[in-house]
Amino acid sequence: MESGGKAPDVFCSESISKGVFYKGRHSIAVVDIAPVMPGHTLVIPTRHVLDITELSAEEMGDIHLTLKKVTPIVLRIYGDSSMSYDITSQIGEYSGMSVRHLHIHIIPRKKDDKYQSKQSVYDAIEHVERLPEKEYSRRVDLLRKELKWSE
Ligand SMILES: [Zn+2]
Repeated sequence: MESGGKAPDVFCSESISKGVFYKGRHSIAVVDIAPVMPGHTLVIPTRHVLDITELSAEEMGDIHLTLKKVTPIVLRIYGDSSMSYDITSQIGEYSGMSVRHLHIHIIPRKKDDKYQSKQSVYDAIEHVERLPEKEYSRRVDLLRKELKWSE
């Protein structure tokens, strides 16, 4: 429980662990439960913060290292030869921020994907179906294997 008695958000709760496929010192990489594209990944600081300005330099650095580590692997599995992707984060009340815990999306993009109008991928983030649990686990396991995960 956070101070103030508020219930923890999903990124602070135990349930997030089933989606984690990479752990940095201060951040984790997780398969998005409701992907807008196959391979849609979240990089999340392990400490509960709402905003990048709350991060220490070390935490900020670690998030970038995690992005650098997992992005090429996600793209190798889910991208095409263009190696295209979006990195995006919604922060604050009017941004479309869903879970109130800082998170950075990595979204693989392809030549003829359905988000060719420039902003449509961002609209989609909040409006896609969750993956069935089995398919979600399969995708997490695939990435864990690529990153030679051991619990
Ligand atoms: Zn949190």
